[in-house]
Amino acid sequence: MLFELEVPTSEKFQIVDITDDVQRLVYRSKVKHGIVIVFTRHTTTGLFINEAENGLLEDIKAKMKELVPKGAGYSHDRIDGNAHSHIRASLFLNPEVVIPIDEAELQLGTWQRILFVELDGPRHRKVQVMVCPCPEFLEE
Ligand code: ZN
Repeated sequence: MLFELEVPTSEKFQIVDITDDVQRLVYRSKVKHGIVIVFTRHTTTGLFINEAENGLLEDIKAKMKELVPKGAGYSHDRIDGNAHSHIRASLFLNPEVVIPIDEAELQLGTWQRILFVELDGPRHRKVQVMVCPCPEFLEE
């Protein structure tokens, strides 16, 4: 079952915790056992799973900025000036994360959260959430 999650962002570079939204869609799907694939269709966004502690998220943003600074003579900047956003998405993030589901619950660790990263906002973003039942648990 495929859902589309709206993720409006308000900052240029922003990390958004979408865990509760994904869990809500898993409940709505009625899938008890399976996997969920969360997928972003944008080239200047990405996903990762980690702890959503504010200090840590600031550390991660600062490190990405340090390692891939804006406007460092990139070829793509002559198109739309956002090469650093594409490069950060490519080097540090993935377009997707996959999480197991058991008894309709995301099987995340205690401190794990699903984090959406806006790298060229603010924009109105869309994330696909595909909830897939595992065949051996298919019920009538
Ligand atoms: Zn671009």
